[in-house]
Amino acid sequence: MRFINLTRQTEIGANSYFLELDGKKLVIDAGLHPKHEGEAALPYYRSIPDGSLDGILISHAHQDHIGSLPVLMRRQSQARVFMTHATAKLSDVMLHNSVNVMSRQRDELRIPTYPLFTHREADHASELWQSVGFRQYWTLEGERIPRPNHELTFEMYGSGHILGSAGILFRAEGKKVFYTGDVNFLEQTLMRGADFPEGEIDILIIETTRGDRELEVGYSRKAEERRFLAAIIDAFKKGGSILIPVFALGKTQEILTMLHLFKCQGALRHVPIYIGGLSTKITILHDQLASHAPRQYEGLQLLDSVGPHVLSSRDVQTTQIGRRRIYALSSGMMTEKTLSNQLGERLLTDSSQSVFFVGYADPESPAGRLKAAHPGDLVQLDQGQPSQRLACQVSEFDFSAHAPRELLFDYIRKVSPKMVILVHGDPPAVSWFDSRISKELPGTIVVIPEPGKEYEF
Ligand SMILES: [Zn+2]
Ligand SMILES: [Zn+2]
Repeated sequence: MRFINLTRQTEIGANSYFLELDGKKLVIDAGLHPKHEGEAALPYYRSIPDGSLDGILISHAHQDHIGSLPVLMRRQSQARVFMTHATAKLSDVMLHNSVNVMSRQRDELRIPTYPLFTHREADHASELWQSVGFRQYWTLEGERIPRPNHELTFEMYGSGHILGSAGILFRAEGKKVFYTGDVNFLEQTLMRGADFPEGEIDILIIETTRGDRELEVGYSRKAEERRFLAAIIDAFKKGGSILIPVFALGKTQEILTMLHLFKCQGALRHVPIYIGGLSTKITILHDQLASHAPRQYEGLQLLDSVGPHVLSSRDVQTTQIGRRRIYALSSGMMTEKTLSNQLGERLLTDSSQSVFFVGYADPESPAGRLKAAHPGDLVQLDQGQPSQRLACQVSEFDFSAHAPRELLFDYIRKVSPKMVILVHGDPPAVSWFDSRISKELPGTIVVIPEPGKEYEF
């Protein structure tokens, strides 16, 4: 087997990995870096000769895993592309949105290479994708077979991260190679926990996102949901509203499900809920796919049950923020020009308002800066606007879509791989796994793949 990490650094960036198994060449995931721009946001595709791949496999529809797929497909037009049905539906929406964002950035930030692909290319790309079901055996020729044979096959396993997300198991050369993708073993509010293979695995390529922090003692999703509800009720007592910055895909639907459950319990009954832009399109897809991909509350139609109001960018700048309202707006990192950034600007200096964070934010992003600020600090959410003095309440909740490191380690122990390749983590996260595995599983070889370097196993 040959392996190349196509990311440009050891980090959670533009995820993409080259694998050669049984003479077949493939790439898993084709991400786009959320913090870099232009060519630098792409994985290092130049290390694979154009026209040389047999297959491209996608684990899930987050930008850091599919954002550059049309670029990779342009270079590798002969390669077949596989993903689950829900990932295909979601990726289509995500890529078109990405064209819009890049077109705006071309003008605003003067990036001449943007957009990296067009709406037409995104349409053309999605027509070529082949949807595969969970726990089915497929060949890279796109044939579903009843049982694995001597040739290279792959299977998708639910990874519990977002709708349609999958880990991918390859069988070749008498070995099993498993790529976890982004995984959560715990139940979320809407998503079920991962449903991963349990037998022995030879080579495990595993995400390490949360390797840098331990799970809080006594943490449970249910208890965190109760704390969240109590905080919402408290915040309303101050006479204001709540902004919840959320990723459009995944976190928005998790929060809407929570709000639905709270309403079923008789809480927050007449509280108006607002969402916007891309979140609306993605929520419609979650409703359409409710029984087509593993999740809880199969029959639950979020838009009907929660009845959120939809806000445009213009609404966000002019609407009366009011009291006792919940604004679950993207982006999760409060990136400039997004709805959550624009509303954040408006309520930052008002002590009756609140901002609740429910997920990860890069420390250098506007959300990261706001999380780190103390009351009275000057905070700048938009570089084009003056800093403002922080007066609103800022709180944080842990509704992560990634497995805590302890459970990832348990999984490694369970499948006792001969080799573990650590990916999708910042250096401190990766090194926690490195030392834990080296100490407790001395028979397992640990590889921290250097970007661009070719490994032969
Ligand atoms: Zn993800
Ligand atoms: Zn990811």
